[in-house]
Amino acid sequence: MVDYLIKGAGVAGLCAALALTRRGAKVRVVEIRPSLAGHASWYAGGMLAPYCERESAEDVIERRGVASLDWWDGVTDDLVTRAGTLVVANPRDGADLDRFAAMTSAHAGVAAGEISELEPDLSPRFQRGLYYKGEAHMDPRKALAALVTAIEALGGEILFSQDADYQTECAFELDCRGLKSPLQGLRGVRGEMLLLHMPEITLTRTIRLLHPRIPLYIVPRADHHFMVGATMIESAHGGPITARSMMEFLNAAYSVVPAFGEAEIVESGVGVRPAFADNLPQLQVDSQKRCLSINGYYRHGFALGPMLAEAAADWLQDQSQDEDFPVTDISHQREGAK
Ligand SMILES: Cc1cc2nc3c(=O)[nH]c(=O)nc-3n(C[C@H](O)[C@H](O)[C@H](O)COP(=O)(O)OP(=O)(O)OC[C@H]3O[C@@H](n4cnc5c(N)ncnc54)[C@H](O)[C@@H]3O)c2cc1C
Repeated sequence: MVDYLIKGAGVAGLCAALALTRRGAKVRVVEIRPSLAGHASWYAGGMLAPYCERESAEDVIERRGVASLDWWDGVTDDLVTRAGTLVVANPRDGADLDRFAAMTSAHAGVAAGEISELEPDLSPRFQRGLYYKGEAHMDPRKALAALVTAIEALGGEILFSQDADYQTECAFELDCRGLKSPLQGLRGVRGEMLLLHMPEITLTRTIRLLHPRIPLYIVPRADHHFMVGATMIESAHGGPITARSMMEFLNAAYSVVPAFGEAEIVESGVGVRPAFADNLPQLQVDSQKRCLSINGYYRHGFALGPMLAEAAADWLQDQSQDEDFPVTDISHQREGAK
């Protein structure tokens, strides 16, 4: 007997598991895959960029994304690098930079000298940029592993290679299966990425290149590894990266830091982001089945995971509703489908 059975060990399931175990609940997570690898969370960039994301997202992403940073700091030391984000554009795309600045806040304009002070390895062609000092990044794979360690340290269990039809006696189930959840209106948004290794390149912070056709970001990881991403394709297809996406990533990365021309391509990957029509996550409960779904994270699983996990835990504990992410009852949808 456990208090909560959580299906899916992506960022949604693991954040919820930690939020609940911290409150003293007995939690078991079942994951269909044999390890943490291979789902949308595994291929994420790990940007915690609430201000930059505001360019294309609702203000709740900024407000609650800022609050998530401290939550991640509390999972384990050294997970989050609070070094900001540097946004650049090619000189001919200066209008894009102005538009991006107008759509976002908490940035400072930087000129060529400041850009090369912040990131000496960047191409000298960038004359202007925007520096978002309050943003951060982390390695999502380390973050997932740190969540598992923290959950297990508090007595929670994670069982791999277990299908969702796994049953055990529990007070409530949490469905965190990402795109595999049978929720109405959920769609897939394909994201391709590359992992490059180049010992001669050092970057301290996330670099975003604004480009009319191929916007790109580069997130530094340990030992001179760099995550380059990511496409946003309206498709649930999880097959390998296309030649076109890889060529565009490499061209753009090379234009940002010419030394990437000599980098090793360590990995390419594809994750499919679960999203609802408004690209905002939702908490949905089927009260008859006693099952709460946390889903629809779209581009913001790491940026918002902690906030929905805490909102879900609050609701499970005493039915209190988060004002941004209220729990909605979907039992009637099932009834209607009968
Ligand atoms: C390329 C890329 C870059 C991204 N960059 C960022 C970023 O920088 N910052 C950010 O905040 N977000 C980013 N995202 C978005 C983020 O990764 C997603 O929002 C998030 O991973 C969704 O998490 P999830 O747990 O809902 O789904 P998933 O990560 O897909 O996890 C669902 C889990 O459920 C398991 N499962 C499925 N079926 C079953 C079953 N029957 N039984 C048991 N388990 C099952 C799956 O195996 C999987 O482990 C990025 C995404 C991609 C693809």
